[in-house]
Amino acid sequence: MAFTRTDYPVFSWSSSRKGTFDECRRKYYYNYYLAHNGWEDDADEDARLAYRLKKLTGIHLLLGSAVHEVAEYAAKIVKSENRLPSEDKMIEKVKFLLNSAWKESQNPQLWQQNPNRYLMLHSFYYGDGLSKSVIEKIKDKLYAAVPNILKSKTFEEILSQGGDSIKIHESMDTFSLFGLDIYAVPDLVYKNALGKWVVADWKTGKEHDSHPSQIHVYCLYLADKYGVSAEEMTGRVEYLLTGVSRDVEITAESLDTAVQEIKESIEKMKKDLKDPEQNMPFEREKYTLAKHRQFCRYCNFYQLCEDELLEENVI
Ligand code: SF4
Repeated sequence: MAFTRTDYPVFSWSSSRKGTFDECRRKYYYNYYLAHNGWEDDADEDARLAYRLKKLTGIHLLLGSAVHEVAEYAAKIVKSENRLPSEDKMIEKVKFLLNSAWKESQNPQLWQQNPNRYLMLHSFYYGDGLSKSVIEKIKDKLYAAVPNILKSKTFEEILSQGGDSIKIHESMDTFSLFGLDIYAVPDLVYKNALGKWVVADWKTGKEHDSHPSQIHVYCLYLADKYGVSAEEMTGRVEYLLTGVSRDVEITAESLDTAVQEIKESIEKMKKDLKDPEQNMPFEREKYTLAKHRQFCRYCNFYQLCEDELLEENVI
């Protein structure tokens, strides 16, 4: 579809959008509104900056993405060859991705010119790079997560019945709810021995209350795209740092609750707009700074908030 320029972005909903909205309104404004059209050469300087800062990545987030990439690679091998790839191969791939980011981060000019193509790590942009202790933490995570993908309940079940039980692996798609696009990115969906569709999600962070809700969003996507009923679905979150696997029960009632939660979240977001029809935001100041400022130093958009935070003498 041809790209059409719009003054304001098209409103859509995702679990990560809700997460940002709940975490910090100002960050939400920068990420979903100010950065819009910031890729244009003649855009306002703050919009251009917001667009670039949106593209920064933290090393822990990058590790999470790299682990997801190799989990997807493993799913492809399992689906086509009914076997898992070797742990060494997967670790090598993650290291390659991390090293590429490290190298690209040494060249800020390339990133400034094309932040969509090159990676810039937050710790290089705002500081001196990665400390030894951070590198050690990342190594620990890598050497815990990759073996746990291979030993996961999810792959154990899939291999016991054949790789062709995999229905979806790592696909970003949308479904429609209340006339809006709702984003869903299920990591892996397969049919288990009982004929149920299992929606599995890999996590490289700690357990969080929001994870079952995310699984429900993916289940709503399955219901919409494939006509799967609540009785035919179940969810699972695989915590790769600990190897803990948590099943998420899906019922017609829990899906209704998920729809209700999305509706309420959309209503709250729309109330925070000057013109909800056009998805036009209020001025920047209307979007308050984070209540808890201890994480501001780690935020991509710190540069845009720095003066205000210093004025308030909170950092
Ligand atoms: S620096 Fe703090 S206040 Fe500013 S956007 Fe980030 S989290 Fe929000």
